[in-house]
This record gives sequence, structure tokens and C-alpha cells, in this order.
Amino acid sequence: MKTIAISACLLGEKCRYDATDNKNDMLIAQLQGDRLIPFCPEEYAFGTPRLTMDLIRTSHGDKAISNETGEDLSKPVIDYAHTFFDAHPDIDLVIGKDRSPSCGVCSAKLYDEEKNLLSSQEAGLMMKEAKKRNISCIDAEKYKEST
Ligand code: SF4
Repeated sequence: MKTIAISACLLGEKCRYDATDNKNDMLIAQLQGDRLIPFCPEEYAFGTPRLTMDLIRTSHGDKAISNETGEDLSKPVIDYAHTFFDAHPDIDLVIGKDRSPSCGVCSAKLYDEEKNLLSSQEAGLMMKEAKKRNISCIDAEKYKEST
């Protein structure tokens, strides 16, 4: 039995910005028998529903910037990631929701400050922290492909 941290929206929690989910029944079936630890940094930090944000490359690093207010929303997401991974040192794998600016593993979009697309293969802010800690992580869509 593996211990797998997983984006809560993939399990059916209605924690997306618009209070919907990304429930993935096929993935859930594949994970039967594993110990699942759900997480959602954005719901913790901002509640649901909430404003959307994009990953922006700035002179101070990659930041999560609100699409409506331009506010830098990075710190609460990064703080959540620190707290979560500190509390769960036994994680074998993290499965992140692909394309999320928080949870994408190799699939988040990164823009420059003029909103020009720089890459579609970035790690979201929480996954950057997982990678820093050398925790194995994979996008949900890749997990489906690999099993
Ligand atoms: S992708 Fe991550 S931050 Fe977004 S709703 Fe799912 S768990 Fe929450």
C-alpha cells in the first residue's frame, strides 16, 4: 500500500475556484487500496469560490498572480505546501491536478508579466515545493497513461 497525496478536486471535492470538482473516477478506481491524503492549497488559502490566478514569471521568481486584482497570492499557497509536506513526511507519491497553477506537476502554464505564454510544462507552486523536497510527483493525466 502506497501513501499518496492527491489534489482533493480529483477525488470529487468541490474545491475548484468555481466550487466544482475534477472528479476522476478512473483514477480513483486505480488508487483503491492506497492510502490517500487529499490537499487543496487554494481552498485553504482563499476559500471557495475564489478568484482565479495565473503563474507569472517576475524578476522575483515565479508568482501566482490574481487575474482580477493583480495581487500576488503566492505566499499562502507556499506556506500551505510547507505545512502539508512537513506534516506528511511519509508520502510515496504526489498526484497533482494537471494544468493547475498550484497543483500541476509538468503542465502548468507560465506567462511573462505581459501575459505572453512562456511554457505549458511548468510546476505549480505547491508542486515546486514537492520537487524541492525530492518527493515523487506526477500529473493526474500522466498517472492514467502510465498504468
Ligand atoms: S487543482 Fe489543486 S488548488 Fe485547484 S482545486 Fe484542485 S486541489 Fe485545489
